[in-house]
Amino acid sequence: MAAVTPVTLYFSLLQYFGPQKWWPVDKKYHEKNSTDPRFEIIVGAVLTQNTAWKNVEKALENLRSNNALTITSIAKMDIDRLSDMIKPSGYFNQKAFRLKKLSLYLQDRYNGDLNRFFNRETVDIRNELLSLSGVGPETADSILLYAGGHPIFVVDAYTRRICSRLPITVDGKTYDDIRQCFERDIQRRFPTEKLVSIYGELHALIVVFGKTFCKKKPVCRNCPMNSTCIYREKEVFSF
Ligand code: SF4
Repeated sequence: MAAVTPVTLYFSLLQYFGPQKWWPVDKKYHEKNSTDPRFEIIVGAVLTQNTAWKNVEKALENLRSNNALTITSIAKMDIDRLSDMIKPSGYFNQKAFRLKKLSLYLQDRYNGDLNRFFNRETVDIRNELLSLSGVGPETADSILLYAGGHPIFVVDAYTRRICSRLPITVDGKTYDDIRQCFERDIQRRFPTEKLVSIYGELHALIVVFGKTFCKKKPVCRNCPMNSTCIYREKEVFSF
């Protein structure tokens, strides 16, 4: 059985699902309102914690329809009103607090200028994001990759599950062990200027793959990876 690596996984999933072109933002809205689409990604990365994306979309729509999808608006908004707008995303009081803190931080420290915030070393921005309330590695790296265009791979629960089933060999079990394993393999195969788009596409492909096939209860029969999956083999032999 051929080994699965992040690179072979990327090619297999890309062939099966096609490009996902993440992160989904409402470009027309931002063009029309001269607002910064990167902030929508930042907000989306916080709102998507512990909830499905369709719930995030409803919350983002509420923010858009109230002209509240900017750093300034959220920084000055009453916290109860913000909670109300983002209610569909769940954990809304906690998330409202996080969004407000993050917006105030960007406003006070960077004058609300995302170019100033993002035009720095990846590691410095990452450490700063991780020091903020409610921003863990997955949220920080989603912001860095999709909003900031920094070459960093995002690890989520689907990535962990897929690694344990296919398997993809990872030295260690921490978030950063898995992230670095993916980054090392991809860096060996692709030039530096391609890393942001490959990391972004692979994470999106893993999400769609995890939702379609490699669920908690996997749908192995038609899975595009089933010829290389150890877990699937166990399932077959256990019947
Ligand atoms: S064969 Fe089943 S367990 Fe293996 S990757 Fe596919 S869906 Fe997941």
